[in-house]
Amino acid sequence: MRDVVIIGSGCAGNTAAVYSARANLKPLVIKGHEPGGQLSLTTLVENFPGFPEGINGPDLVENIKKQAENFGAEYREGAVEEADLSKRPFRLKIDGEWLETRTLIVASGAKARWLGLPNEQKLIGHGVSSCATCDGFFYRDKKIMVIGGGDSAMEEANFLTRFGKEVMVVHRREQFRASKIMMDRARNNPKVKFVTSTLVEDVYDTGKGLVTGVRLRNVATNKVWDEEVDGFFVAIGHIPNTAVFRGQLETDPDGYILSKGGARTNIVGVFHAGDVQDRVYRQAVTAAGMGCMAAMEAERFLEAEGH
Ligand SMILES: Cc1cc2nc3c(=O)[nH]c(=O)nc-3n(C[C@H](O)[C@H](O)[C@H](O)COP(=O)(O)OP(=O)(O)OC[C@H]3O[C@@H](n4cnc5c(N)ncnc54)[C@H](O)[C@@H]3O)c2cc1C
Repeated sequence: MRDVVIIGSGCAGNTAAVYSARANLKPLVIKGHEPGGQLSLTTLVENFPGFPEGINGPDLVENIKKQAENFGAEYREGAVEEADLSKRPFRLKIDGEWLETRTLIVASGAKARWLGLPNEQKLIGHGVSSCATCDGFFYRDKKIMVIGGGDSAMEEANFLTRFGKEVMVVHRREQFRASKIMMDRARNNPKVKFVTSTLVEDVYDTGKGLVTGVRLRNVATNKVWDEEVDGFFVAIGHIPNTAVFRGQLETDPDGYILSKGGARTNIVGVFHAGDVQDRVYRQAVTAAGMGCMAAMEAERFLEAEGH
């Protein structure tokens, strides 16, 4: 029987592990299929406080993990395949084996949706991004492309005009899903250009190890052409990793956990941390902050229950 099990080894899970380990709760962290989480996909992180020169994403999460291990946190390979949260202790199935815990911190994050282009994954962190707040700063006076037609694409495009000399929004349909206010803002921004009814066929150049351009295809005319760009931002949404809790944890229609205040979920003793609940900020520092909140709530809950 565990006091605290943490699902996920990204910024949120690792920070929850630091706090609960320092509270002497010997947390067990289930790493999941993406150890280190989203930051393990990226290169330089320049906006995590405390690193004036920036720090590589994988080093940052690894450091937080080591910090947690120094205080007694344990890490386990594997992913939660099934969860029974109907009563306490909660039960989790990992690699066919069930384990029990008095409290649970769900820090299973979210996955950015990608387009599935042949070279897209190879260029993540080298010009391909899913986060303007994170990476916009690297594209001062550069040509930037944003893919998507919803509010987040317009928000990213507007934000990126602070840096880029031109921001081209490419959308596969003629009509945009974005709200009128977000569309108007983008349309009134002289740096934003729109290319509609157009698909991206691929992004280049893996040989150079950075983005230099993309190939586009107009779906109405079938015209194919290359466009030079330096930054390629995919803004077509995220998928929160909550499938194993379906029907137990309350989520919004997109699958993000609904918070019941602080780090609390609808199930007493189950807490949330990081991007799995956050569709707004989605930053390493906010995920870490929520990891701290969840660990403190778990500790107080256990204390109140007499453990
Ligand atoms: C390319 C890229 C660049 C970024 N750059 C920056 C940046 O410069 N600055 C910044 O602040 N933010 C950046 N971000 C955003 C930042 O990475 C996220 O906000 C942060 O990682 C969220 O942390 P998290 O712990 O909530 O979730 P995640 O990092 O998504 O981690 C989720 C964890 O849960 C695990 N998991 C999932 N399902 C299960 C399961 N069933 N069982 C067990 N484990 C499971 C996964 O294996 C993973 O370890 C970037 C994101 C990306 C994709």
